Amino acid sequence: MLDSALEILRLQSTGEASAVDVTEKVFESIESSESSINAFTHVDRDLALATAEAIDKKRRAGEPLGPLAGVPVAAKDVLCTKDMPTTCSSNMLRHFRPPYDATVIEKLRQADAVIVGKTNMDEFAMGASTETSAFGVTRNPWDTSRTPGGSSGGAAACVAAGNVPLSLGSDTGGSIRQPSGFCGVTGLKPTYGRVSRYGLVAFASSLDQIGPIGWSVPDVALLLQAISGFEPRDSTSLDREVPDYTSALQTSDLRGLRIGVLRDALEADGIDDQVRAAVHDAMQVFKSAGAELVDVNLPHSEYWVPTYYVIAPSEASSNLSRYDGAHYGHRATELDPDQVEQLGPLHATYCKSRGEGFGAEVKRRIMVGTYALSEGYADQYYNQALKARRLIKGDYDTAFTQADLLLGPVSPTPAFPLGEKVDDPIQMYLCDLFTVGANLAGIPAISLPAGLNSEGLPLAIQLQAPALQEARLLFAGAAYQTTTDHHQQRPNL
Ligand code: GLN
Repeated sequence: MLDSALEILRLQSTGEASAVDVTEKVFESIESSESSINAFTHVDRDLALATAEAIDKKRRAGEPLGPLAGVPVAAKDVLCTKDMPTTCSSNMLRHFRPPYDATVIEKLRQADAVIVGKTNMDEFAMGASTETSAFGVTRNPWDTSRTPGGSSGGAAACVAAGNVPLSLGSDTGGSIRQPSGFCGVTGLKPTYGRVSRYGLVAFASSLDQIGPIGWSVPDVALLLQAISGFEPRDSTSLDREVPDYTSALQTSDLRGLRIGVLRDALEADGIDDQVRAAVHDAMQVFKSAGAELVDVNLPHSEYWVPTYYVIAPSEASSNLSRYDGAHYGHRATELDPDQVEQLGPLHATYCKSRGEGFGAEVKRRIMVGTYALSEGYADQYYNQALKARRLIKGDYDTAFTQADLLLGPVSPTPAFPLGEKVDDPIQMYLCDLFTVGANLAGIPAISLPAGLNSEGLPLAIQLQAPALQEARLLFAGAAYQTTTDHHQQRPNL
């Protein structure tokens, strides 16, 4: 089991450990857990050790070092890396090596982090269980018969397993927060535009956001600090100053903070009793820390899932049209003669390449999205969903006049058994009941470990804040973790 990122920084600054020592430990740990959890699509020990050696050398020479010097970080395989493959866990991109780094990867390198590998995910980030990966399922370190959640399942599992202290995930409808919740780690989805999406393979561009996963709030704050900020290559990136996220985390005094409890979520159909109880326990913790609790309602929350499952597939159908075997992605070598006859060689290439390259869930989304955007149906589906999105955003605006933060569950249930929902898309989509609202509204949200249920599976709570108030989430999250020890519990792998 590895130390936290802050502890790794400290050990190196006192000379108790070198970046190479830390990196060696990472690969020992991956070697011992990978056969049971399959969190990675790619690791590169030699590359990581070379980076670590260079950092140690800089330190010995007294050169300035970045804020993540020698800290091992894993990156979800949806982020472009010029020295490692970027597959999106899809056969479509199985052999893709990007010619450039995503902004967040550049920033990790500038911060002197050690990038150890790429983590498994649902194909093109579509899913909530990491079962749609073309590289096999990832298993939950707390119970390997269960899913780690998704789509950033590998990113959450490798942190929970103690392979690395930090990872980067992406969250379009909950993909950082839900797997963090299922794996008992802390995950933050930043405000839309806070972190550059340049080099993030697009799923649903108006919802996608990259964010940090770690054991505890201070570690997550450290990584958020390193990746945030304006970047002109992402036209939706926000040109706003980045506050100091790592300051003011050492407090358990929340006097003056109003926390809105999402009552409707707690009474929703299908929410597990122990999940509900974890939120109730958290209410007591926040109250004891001096926060004022108020009941808050988001009246259109019943439309979150339907709205998301029109907008996200619509954008996906457009974004994924580039993978046709000619411009991008896997190209079929043997064409179907009947198709060539009917469609001509070009379209036959597109059909066969897309047919072979994409898995069933991705195809389903492309079809749903194409339908929702098509002439004759767009007003009924896509344009209607945009109107609903406006109302959903309005609900949050009103709620944030009554409360500074919103508290509720992350997911309706703890980690479910592998295979339970994978053939039932509606059941899988309902996992996103409490997470997609923040994406539709573009606001930040954090998932915090909240204890274990009677079967020893992690429970989690979610806090949501107004746009650009990540510091508030971290402040309240740190207070919660100062008075509880849920984030210190670890699986016995
Ligand atoms: N589970 C959601 C989906 O399948 C969210 C995925 C995500 O955030 N990338 O679309």
